[in-house]
Amino acid sequence: MKTIYLDYAAATPMDRKVVAAMQPYFSQKFHNPSSIYLTGRAAHQALEEARAAVAQNLGAKPADIIFTAGATEANNLAIQGVMKNFHGGEVLVSAIEHESVLAPAALFSCRTVAVNSKGRVDLRKLEAMISHKTVLVSIGLVNNEIGTVQPLSDISKILNKLRKLRGPKGRPLYLHSDCAQAPNYFDMHVARLGVDLLTVNGGKIYGPKQSGVLYVRAGVQLQPLILGGGQESNLRSGTENVAGSVGLAAALSLAQKKRSDEAQRVAKLRQQFIAGLEKSIPAAMVNGSAKRSAPHIISVTFPGVDNERLMMELDERGIQVATGSACSASSDEPSHVLSAIGLSDKAAHSTLRFSFGRATSEADIAQTLRILRELTS
Ligand code: PLP
Repeated sequence: MKTIYLDYAAATPMDRKVVAAMQPYFSQKFHNPSSIYLTGRAAHQALEEARAAVAQNLGAKPADIIFTAGATEANNLAIQGVMKNFHGGEVLVSAIEHESVLAPAALFSCRTVAVNSKGRVDLRKLEAMISHKTVLVSIGLVNNEIGTVQPLSDISKILNKLRKLRGPKGRPLYLHSDCAQAPNYFDMHVARLGVDLLTVNGGKIYGPKQSGVLYVRAGVQLQPLILGGGQESNLRSGTENVAGSVGLAAALSLAQKKRSDEAQRVAKLRQQFIAGLEKSIPAAMVNGSAKRSAPHIISVTFPGVDNERLMMELDERGIQVATGSACSASSDEPSHVLSAIGLSDKAAHSTLRFSFGRATSEADIAQTLRILRELTS
């Protein structure tokens, strides 16, 4: 039985080119980048080349790139790092952020920006919520459960306007975006996105898990979370993961090179899937925004169906998908994302997430639709 993997939002297989780029740094080129003999300096150079490649893909400077162990750490560094510097400050997050944004934000004075039934942040509401205490706004570009894309550059314009009103001596107002789900399909240029801090996740872009990047615009003041030897400009101590950083850089470069073609190809698969659902399972409801969605994530509610059961039955037939809450460790709670867009607990427990990637084909979608029809009729 052929396996059809439709959970690319949870994990992506490493690209062969990425594996090849990393390979030497596990064995022959294992040296510590802080060692000053020749091979140590070579490891340091590999790390700096990786940093420069990441910076180039983001339209940033190498000094703005901090390598982390994944997106969770990058999000924590962004939020705790900024908020620890500004006592009495406040952070605003959207209601549908990943737990790795919500949990560190909850350590500080934090308010949540509601989203509409499509999962979009209302710009006017956001603007009205920003107070003189607000230091940081954290809004992810692509939601990992429903795929909704946020108007980041419009949000950035609002922040710019308010920043000007505060004047040069006023409290800073930073925009962070968790872009863990974005680089396979979207332009990651930080100035075009208008962000001050941005998170990238190697494990979602056909790179290694536990590799990540936090972009920090020059001038943004951050406190480190991990103290020690002072690596990564003192913002993330610990011997650098050279292989992981080289892998992440290769993965990001490949993802950005492929993104336009892949966005078009995967958008067609999305259309095929949605049209097939409408035809063969008309009761099924697609969550999120039809117009403003990443191509690869589709959240579907099958009314009256138990999502865990349907997921297991699909698994038995070789199709791997996620329940709405599969990304977090606690699986019984209804997803906060689905609740935020107005789904009842019952509907949330009837919802599956399908996410597509580089190996997903039209035939896979057709087969998934056939099996879904059988299992839900
Ligand atoms: N942010 C988003 C949007 C994600 O989808 C994920 C992973 O599911 C993360 C952050 C956390 O990534 P990691 O668990 O690799 O640190």
